[in-house]
Amino acid sequence: MKVLKFGGSSLADSKQFIKVKDIVTEDMDRKYIVVSAPGKGINNKHKITDLLLMCYELASHGLNFKEIFELIENTFLQIVKDLNLDLDLKSILNEIFIDIQNGASRDFTASRGEYLNAILLSNYLGWNFVDASEIFFFRDGEIDTNKTEEKIEETLKNLEFSVIPGFYGTDENSNIKTFSRGGSDITGSLLANALKAKIYENWTDVSGFLIADPKIVPTSKTIDYITYKELRELSYMGAPVLHEDAIFPVKKHKIPINIKNTNYPKDKGTTIIPNYDNEHVANNITGIAGKLGFSAITIEKTFMNSELGFFRKIMSVLETNEIPIEHMPSSIDSVSLIVDTGKIANKINKVIEEIKIYTNPDYINVEHGIALIAIVGNGMVNKKGTSAKVFSALGDNNINIRMISQGSSELNIIVGVAESDFEKSIKSIYEIFN
Ligand code: ASP
Repeated sequence: MKVLKFGGSSLADSKQFIKVKDIVTEDMDRKYIVVSAPGKGINNKHKITDLLLMCYELASHGLNFKEIFELIENTFLQIVKDLNLDLDLKSILNEIFIDIQNGASRDFTASRGEYLNAILLSNYLGWNFVDASEIFFFRDGEIDTNKTEEKIEETLKNLEFSVIPGFYGTDENSNIKTFSRGGSDITGSLLANALKAKIYENWTDVSGFLIADPKIVPTSKTIDYITYKELRELSYMGAPVLHEDAIFPVKKHKIPINIKNTNYPKDKGTTIIPNYDNEHVANNITGIAGKLGFSAITIEKTFMNSELGFFRKIMSVLETNEIPIEHMPSSIDSVSLIVDTGKIANKINKVIEEIKIYTNPDYINVEHGIALIAIVGNGMVNKKGTSAKVFSALGDNNINIRMISQGSSELNIIVGVAESDFEKSIKSIYEIFN
């Protein structure tokens, strides 16, 4: 049995609904569908969730939100009309309008896009509609996994062919609570796990992940297989297709996630798997991703390595200033702290002063404009030559490496380069491996 999730662009208008029906009816194993709210499309300039949040903001300031609500209404009613559905969605929309007017919460308001879309799709497919508020439960702001799994099993095990709204559930006070934005991915993942699905198909508008950002490498190939761990490394560096938290739930039962393209359903897409095995062999590198906007604080002090508590003192300065340390490459007499520029920008003088007071360094310097690039791949574990290849790709292109770090799992190599060398670095690393 397969659990499917369709993202907002896959359900933006009636043409997309038709594609979804073709996909779903082609395979009888496709039995549970999670939906997002309609996204941007030819007729909709805005995502429905964004419009709902605007309505909430206006309403909470006592302002008129009717015009914005009409945009939402038009999108849904147009789909009902185009698909010729026998469904009185207008009265459900009216109720929602009144709820918002009467002070409905932000989460309740935001969740209505998924709610309405699931009603629409279930009607169009002739499937059951199961409200997420009856099967997904939160406690202290987090998903209550035990209760959720229990309820899903109880409700859905014998109710095949159901459509479920993504993105929300019920909290301990019986109020609607949403996940963070893009959270329908998590709904799908929790559902696939609770129902022990064979696979979780996540349908979107791209045919999986690419090895490198196509804006930098337009000819980039698709990643066929990637492990959960590799994906974590890549998404941290900004490869956004799937919500970061969507990986955790499926880990338990080792359910693969297949990222598929609603507009090109024959494309294989990318499959996220628990581990490589005989069938799925790791490539040398799986993906390359990077981010701009880092700063390096370099501290030099002779014999710092033998000074007890030296690193702890530096770290506690950053901790009290609430600045996470991304990387910390060091040599015998110097250490660099790589931090997010945005997080340190307005505290930099204070941080420097405090480091000086606590550690009395010989020299301290701050450099902005650093980009970090992660080269991720299970294939480099216990294998020689990957880092040599990365460095020669950069060296041959006259790119100065400011920092190197390799995780102890050997799953990635991270290099820091000047922001002005960012794109050139990614291109040259991609080329040397492909
Ligand atoms: N509709 C919500 C959002 O725009 C949730 C989702 O699409 O997953 O964030």
